[in-house]
Amino acid sequence: MPRNSSVDDFLFALPSPVTVPIARGGLFAVRRIYCVGRNYAEHIREMGNDEREPPFFFGKPADAVLVGGAPMPYPPQTADLHHEVELVVAIGKNGADIAPEDALGHVYGYAVGLDMTRRDLQATAKKTGRPWEMAKGFDHSAPIGLIEPASQIGHPERGEITLSVNGAERQRGDLADQIWNVSETIAHLSRFVALKAGDLIMTGTPAGVSAVVRGDVLEGTIAGIGSVRTTIV
Ligand code: MN
Repeated sequence: MPRNSSVDDFLFALPSPVTVPIARGGLFAVRRIYCVGRNYAEHIREMGNDEREPPFFFGKPADAVLVGGAPMPYPPQTADLHHEVELVVAIGKNGADIAPEDALGHVYGYAVGLDMTRRDLQATAKKTGRPWEMAKGFDHSAPIGLIEPASQIGHPERGEITLSVNGAERQRGDLADQIWNVSETIAHLSRFVALKAGDLIMTGTPAGVSAVVRGDVLEGTIAGIGSVRTTIV
């Protein structure tokens, strides 16, 4: 019998690929999710941090992605689940040490995403100098809307970004207010890790983060890109 690997060689069934639907058809297979820690001055101030600091990065597991407006189960181990609406960059071309002027050539497209956060766990992690994983990288912590290809919408440098809960606006900002734009973020991140097609970068949130509870309907929007929607259950 030829020794080509087959499903029989794996101890467990292979996990299903994590995908985000692309507007007008097709699926974007997710490899990794990177997130920018602080990227809008007003949000940095509301969190009591120094806005002159350079950006930093953390991650979420790929299978934290939640698509299609699916409901988000309220996660365990928190009493302070927060929304953070963010521009999501979908990487379509591999690269490391990418120059800022080449960076947009590595972008497949853009989406609206929510960096859902267990704020109480994050506060404890900050206080104790511990990792943020359990505050940020939990199950279903990354609701994402449709990916719009840059070939269709270009590379938006400005545009209103908002988040509403049950129709009432909580967050509002503009992509133009990002401290580090998409090109700079890709350049910076790719000095630390090689980016590959399938990576998503959540690029930070504007001011107005706040707690949500079961039953809340969240809708994030970015002008010129689209929206993301979920209900906390
Ligand atoms: Mn965030």
